[in-house]
Amino acid sequence: MIDFSLTDEQKALRDMAREFAKNEIIPKSAHHDETGEYPMDILKKAWEVGLMNLHIEAENNGAEMSDFDEMIVAEELNYGCSGVATAILANNLALAPVLVGASKELKKKFVEPMTREFKLAAYAVTEPGAGSDVAGIRTTAVRKGDEYIVNGSKQWITNAGVSDWMFVLTKTDPSAGHKGMTGFIIDSKSHGVIIGKKEKNMGQKCSDTRAVTFEDVRVPIDQVVGKEGEGFKIAMAAFDHTRPAVAIGAVGVARSAFEHALRYANTRNTFGKPISSNQGIAFMLAEMARDIEAGRLLAWQAAWLIDNGYKNTYQASIAKAFCADMCMRVATDAVQIFGGYGFNNEYPVEKLMRDAKIFQIYEGTSQIQRVIISKFLNDGKGIEGPNI
Ligand SMILES: Cc1cc2nc3c(=O)[nH]c(=O)nc-3n(C[C@H](O)[C@H](O)[C@H](O)COP(=O)(O)OP(=O)(O)OC[C@H]3O[C@@H](n4cnc5c(N)ncnc54)[C@H](O)[C@@H]3O)c2cc1C
Repeated sequence: MIDFSLTDEQKALRDMAREFAKNEIIPKSAHHDETGEYPMDILKKAWEVGLMNLHIEAENNGAEMSDFDEMIVAEELNYGCSGVATAILANNLALAPVLVGASKELKKKFVEPMTREFKLAAYAVTEPGAGSDVAGIRTTAVRKGDEYIVNGSKQWITNAGVSDWMFVLTKTDPSAGHKGMTGFIIDSKSHGVIIGKKEKNMGQKCSDTRAVTFEDVRVPIDQVVGKEGEGFKIAMAAFDHTRPAVAIGAVGVARSAFEHALRYANTRNTFGKPISSNQGIAFMLAEMARDIEAGRLLAWQAAWLIDNGYKNTYQASIAKAFCADMCMRVATDAVQIFGGYGFNNEYPVEKLMRDAKIFQIYEGTSQIQRVIISKFLNDGKGIEGPNI
């Protein structure tokens, strides 16, 4: 049953994503890093060729790709530039809780139009006072007749400034802990939605990250995702789909850093020979290649499990933690192999090291992944591998 070969369709998808990265992303990546300009043209092209909104169901006119298919696309796009890739793939993140929990009618209203028209969405969960501790959010939604009134603030929301709608997690019953949380789709143009200025981040500079404030925003009751009180459960279930995608994104960045380092190590001479002929450098490269392969397999496993109907929370956290830490290590080693040139923005690995850092932070930090893994271990689960 275990089979690591890609189908002909998956090979074609990989080739298409790879060509897209080569022709549309890589030539513009330095420009978008330097200027921070949002890569709207690239996103529109990605939408046209079918590299966005991968998982929308066929009944809503979507491609209904699997999480494994996203592994193929996300690695290639992140290999091209992870700032651009994060912008492209943010729709998948916003769609994840909606595809997991929303009613048919709500999907028809907000999801199906994304297949006919270029539209962007954002996932708004984190708040100024609550990132890792999702149950600690303070945004409230209070029912009034046929509407909810939403008040609160969100922080670090990718694509907030360009979004048509947002998935917003709120508290509808603050006394009930995570059972009192409810997710909504909120139209970004609604009265009372205030979008903050674009943040100036260390890496992935063209990705649009902003604070969002909700001031008495009126949301129709039919825009609840799932049922009142199910928001935490739905947001957590969405992570099972999105963490493998973030993990494989880190693999894409690491692969790019590795390839630059390998090429450089074979052409840079010291003491009359290429630096790659020194075991100290050759072993660094060997370890980079080893860890990229391991990371890819972990991400593939996590995606394969959920595609095949198995719970993958443990494997998704392992993949996310391993790949994020691996990517940071590989990018740092790539800078080391470039020596002084690695520290300079005329050479590509400096950007990759800055871009790598965020993988250890968003979609649950590296520490939070370890908290989740530890919980499984303490419950006596996990270590024997997937029980399938
Ligand atoms: C560029 C960028 C894009 C983002 N995009 C989005 C988005 O689109 N939507 C969204 O909702 N959020 C988004 N985020 C938010 C991101 O998910 C959070 O920043 C992240 O979850 C961490 O939360 P925090 O920043 O509040 O850190 P905190 O939760 O305050 O954590 C601070 C430090 O403490 C550690 N820590 C916390 N709790 C524990 C614990 N129990 N045990 C051990 N260590 C712990 C953390 O690992 C971290 O090192 C984005 C963030 C950035 C920077």
